[in-house]
Amino acid sequence: MQDEAIGSARAEAERVEARKRGVYLVVLPAGIAIFLLSWAVRTPGDVYLAYLYPLFAFVLAALFVAVWRAPKALPRLEAWMLAMVAMMILSRLAWHFHAGGPLDEHLLVLAGGHYWAVGIVILAAFVMLEHRRGFRAGVAILVVATLIAASGAAGEWLRGELSRDAGVYLVRVHLFLAVLLALASVATSMRDTVKDALVRSEALEQAAQTDPLTGLANRRAAESVLQRHAASVRRYGVPVAVIGMDIDHFKAVNDTHGHAIGDAVIAGIARILRSSVREPDSVARWGGEEFLIVAPEIGREGALQLAERCREAIAREPIAGVRVTASFGVTSFGPQDSLDAVLKRADKMMYRAKEEGRNRVLLG
Ligand code: GH3
Ligand code: MG
Ligand code: MG
Repeated sequence: MQDEAIGSARAEAERVEARKRGVYLVVLPAGIAIFLLSWAVRTPGDVYLAYLYPLFAFVLAALFVAVWRAPKALPRLEAWMLAMVAMMILSRLAWHFHAGGPLDEHLLVLAGGHYWAVGIVILAAFVMLEHRRGFRAGVAILVVATLIAASGAAGEWLRGELSRDAGVYLVRVHLFLAVLLALASVATSMRDTVKDALVRSEALEQAAQTDPLTGLANRRAAESVLQRHAASVRRYGVPVAVIGMDIDHFKAVNDTHGHAIGDAVIAGIARILRSSVREPDSVARWGGEEFLIVAPEIGREGALQLAERCREAIAREPIAGVRVTASFGVTSFGPQDSLDAVLKRADKMMYRAKEEGRNRVLLG
């Protein structure tokens, strides 16, 4: 049961990774196209763009190949991708503010392209990383962008060259980015909190229903399975068999070999029972060295054969180095039976099997 839960959580994580990988394999070529397009239509004399944009496109192409060829390395690649793209965009922003001449001439490009890109990288940080790291990366990107803009604008302002439009635009766009960061942070922190709570509650539910020694369903889980079956017996008349089982002379096993070996025998018997039943049957550890099998959709004869198969498998060879046998009481739900009556009958047949010499199956 635990294995199933771990398996399905892993499959879910793998599906998410595959989806993310698919997105990167589309977004990275789009980034390459943007850099190459900007390079193709560059203004003559823009040395930065002329040399660096082809380099950036090359780096994105290398990342594309890495994502394509090593899907397992995705989590590590994501941090790299984010850092590199942030550096590309922030360095171009620095060029606009510090090396590109009067700010007024750049406002259109800044508004139409670069601040969009800064906003997208901040959002990407939250999408690509978990909340805490996403928040740190987003704040770092915004702080660096603000320092670049403030230092560039301050120079123009001191020289009396900063226009009112440029000043207002820069303040507004940085406030907008701060709001974007805050919203993304709230949304992803909610996402992560809900996800953690779900994972925790699933784990708790799993633990509350599972016997730690054997990994089988515990008595509480078996009771709810029985109640479900009892309802469907009453409503639809489907046959449901109940098999109670108790290890023979188990006190002697503990006394002779010690409690640890006793535990290993119990775990070994659980494995044998689990591999002896069919898919729809459930096996539970009912108590210390007692087990319960619930087998829907087989008649009394089928249940008898199932119990006999389990008895033989246990008696066939030593378990954890100890030869043990077990006694079985088999019964089935009648249309008027209460759950209590069925359990009592299975128990009675099991004790009769003990009286008649143990290592046997009785049907009642
Ligand atoms: P019988 O054939 O009549 O069933 O004899 P028995 O000795 O098996 O008697 P009973 O079923 O009453 O014995 C239960 C014993 O199982 C008592 C207890 O010491 C032991 N036991 C119960 N739970 C555990 C456990 O989790 N680990 C170990 N090692 N022993 C346990
Ligand atoms: Mg017992
Ligand atoms: Mg016993």
